[in-house]
Formats: sequence, C-alpha cells, structure tokens
Amino acid sequence: MVLAQLGGTISRALQQMSNATIIDEKVLNDCLNEITRALLQSDVQFNLVRDMQKNIKKIVNLDDLAAGHNKRKIIQQAIFNELCKILDPGKPSFTPKKGKTSVIMFVGLQGSGKTTTCTKYAFYHQKKGWKPALVCADTFRAGAFDQLKQNATKAKIPFYGRFSCIPLFVEIDLSCNSYTESDPVRIAVEGVERFKKENCDLIIVDTSGRHKQEAALFEEIVKFLKQRSIGQAAFDQAQAFKQSVAVGAVIITKMDGHAKGGGALSARAREVEFEQWGRIWSWEKVLVSCISSVASDYGDVHKDDSHNQVAATKSPVIFIGTGEHMDEFEVFDVKPFVSRLLGMGDWSGFMDKIQEVVPMDQQPELLQKLSEGNFTLRIMYEQFQNILKMGPIGQVFSMLPGFSQELMPKGREKESQAKIKRYMTMMDSMTNEGKVGQFQSQAHERISNHANS
Ligand code: GDP
Repeated sequence: MVLAQLGGTISRALQQMSNATIIDEKVLNDCLNEITRALLQSDVQFNLVRDMQKNIKKIVNLDDLAAGHNKRKIIQQAIFNELCKILDPGKPSFTPKKGKTSVIMFVGLQGSGKTTTCTKYAFYHQKKGWKPALVCADTFRAGAFDQLKQNATKAKIPFYGRFSCIPLFVEIDLSCNSYTESDPVRIAVEGVERFKKENCDLIIVDTSGRHKQEAALFEEIVKFLKQRSIGQAAFDQAQAFKQSVAVGAVIITKMDGHAKGGGALSARAREVEFEQWGRIWSWEKVLVSCISSVASDYGDVHKDDSHNQVAATKSPVIFIGTGEHMDEFEVFDVKPFVSRLLGMGDWSGFMDKIQEVVPMDQQPELLQKLSEGNFTLRIMYEQFQNILKMGPIGQVFSMLPGFSQELMPKGREKESQAKIKRYMTMMDSMTNEGKVGQFQSQAHERISNHANS
C-alpha cells in the first residue's frame, strides 16, 4: 500500500469510529483491525503491528474509562503515539551547523537515488541560507558526473568532479592520464579541500555505491577517511582505524509512487546488525545513507537490503525523497509525519515552508494583515505566487489539517497548479482598485465561475 493510501485508510478508520454513536469494544476492534490491515499491507513488520494493537488496547480500556472521558480523543492519541513509536529511532537527528564546515558523504547501493538526493539535499540547505557544494566521487557509473553537473548547474550550486576514464567494461584503462585521476578517493579529497578554501559550509560528496556488499563499500569509505586524516594528529588516525564507520543519518528515497514506505520506515526496529558498522564520529564527517524504499531496486537477492540497511545503521531517517524533482524532498520528523499520515496536518512544516518563500521582511506585515482580516485579492495573488514556490502542491496540502495526501493524488497536482495559474492570469487582467479592494465573496465567486468554465 502506498503511503498516501495508508494515511487515507487510517484516517477513514478513525473517522468511522468517530461517526459511531457509542464507542464500544466492537467499534474499537473494527477501527484497530482496519489500521492493522493497512499497516501490514504497507509492509510494516508483523511484530510491530501486533505490539501496537496490544498496547492500544491496554491504554484504551473502555470499561475503565469513566463516562465523561472523550474516548475518541484518547483512542486517536494512543494510535498517534504508537505509530510514532514504530517510526522513532530513539536517537536525535543529525543536523549540520551553519557556518561550520560539514562534509557529508552519501553512500548506498547503486540506483538508490544518491546522485539525485545529493542535489536535493544541497538545494534544500541552499534555500535556508547555507553555502553548499557538490563533489562527484562516482567515477564508476558512466554519466554520473554529467548528471550531478546538470543538477548542480540547474540549482546554481558549485560542483567538482571529473569525467571517468574507466569505461564500465574495462577494469583499468591504460590510456588514462593516470589511474589516480579516476580514483574516487583522490577526487573526493581534492573537491573537499577546494570547497573548504571557498568557505562552503556543506560539502556533499556523492559516491558510486556500486558495491552490493556492505563490507566492500565500507572499505572504500575507510580509504576515503584515511586520506582525509593525512596531516591530522596521529591520534585521530589511530582512532579512525581502531573504529569503523557509522552512518550518521538515513534518507529514504522513492517514497512516492508504489513504494511500500511503511516497511522502509519501520525497518529501524529490525534486529539486524553488521559488525563493521561501528562508529567514527567527528564534527565534520558524516555519512548519509540513501536507501530506496522500492525493494525491487535491489533485485531478488537483495530484496530485503533496504530494510536491513536502516536497521544496520540504526540511524535516524532525516529526509524522504518523494519524486524525481529537486523539490520533491521533505524533512522527516516522526511526529509531523504521523500527523500528516493521519490527516491531522503539520503546521510546523507549513510555517517552515512559508518562511522559505515569503521574504523575511514581509512576514510580520503579512501576519498583521491576516490577523486584521484584511485579505485583499492582491494578498491572495501574492500567496498564490508563494504556494507555487513552495514546491509540489500535494506536499503543501498534506500539511493542512483535514487534507490527507490521498486527496491530492500525484496526477492531479498539475491540474490544481494549472488552476491556480488560471486564477492568477485572470487577476492580472484586473485593475489595481479591483485587486486592493476587500476580498468579497462575490468577486471570489466570479473568479471561480470563470476558472471552472
Ligand atoms: P544513484 O545510482 O544512487 O546515484 O541513483 P540516481 O540518483 O541516479 O537515481 C536512480 C533513479 O531513481 C533515477 O531515475 C532518479 O530520477 C530516481 N529517483 C531518485 N530519487 C527518487 C525519488 O525520491 N522518487 C522517484 N520516483 N525517483 C527517484
């Protein structure tokens, strides 16, 4: 079951329960069974779902609840808390510090969406005032550098990398200037050094992630860190080799489409450990693992890898990728995520988006006008402009209480976006007086009629 559907089914189950005249054992069981079925269909682990159901029943003891208690609210809160428990890694999320160099290395299997996500991650931070830079250390995949270059140019983010001179089917091409030119470690180090000099505070390194086996991937990362340690205190080096590498955070990609997102998200609870994932933790090096929620990306043999990896890293999910475009990228925070899943909205995410698109100096004025009920067509026009800048419209809508993502299926987003643009074109033809006049329902009606005709 796709995430949006999962959210829709859960909210419907809750709604049905709310519509019942009396909430008795049967109504509660029906609601829980519906939610359980939806979670299992989304690939959430059976044990977790079973425990969730047990816990809710323990918390919501209908016999013990006095007559005055708001049973619906108590049940809804219990479901909310239990879903949060399933998704919460119990560890604080990693957040780089603005103004202080952070080197973030992206790892993960080939095809998981690393290159795409690197730019999304850089673009997200750039909009928040960071100075990001991209380094392409993927010398293995033909076209990886081109892809990163293209994305980086579009987002106006500085990038560094070289064309690979090792064709995919030849191990080492002796016609290259030198082998080291295609050495990902060397390229990564050069790129990082260069952007450090340029005072970039977020240097993102894309790797090839061509290894199917974590052990081999790990070796490549250690090799990189060894290079980075040169010139640092011997103690640091010794530390680096005594310990191994930890993934600081996880980004789950491809949560759109037909991904069974529940499985990937709840995977942190799986008791799978890879010994080699120990920890090397310093302020400036962080590994972010991209994990595709689409299990088939890994082929039959590796069907379960996406899940095992999250468990292996035991790291918090910090973002989710929800499409191929640069802005189809969302912060992953357990509570707002569950809140949106249940159709309860995410005001903090919405305000965050507003702050991203409304210039700082205009924010107090806008809030003042809105609080005075001074809503003119000009303000509406400006807010339409902001909504279009906010990113995918479905994402924005899902942050509003009462709207589940199911209400705005992927294909319909374009339709709604086009409708907003039509409203704006009509407003363009209005006189200034018309635009600054008070927002009257009559005018609104006229515009709606036009838009629908
Ligand atoms: P890499 O080999 O790990 O660097 O993977 P790429 O970044 O080249 O991505 C592989 C494919 O997945 C590309 O076609 C991307 O457009 C696509 N992709 C990446 N992230 C997402 C996502 O969040 N949603 C969808 N639908 N596709 C994605």
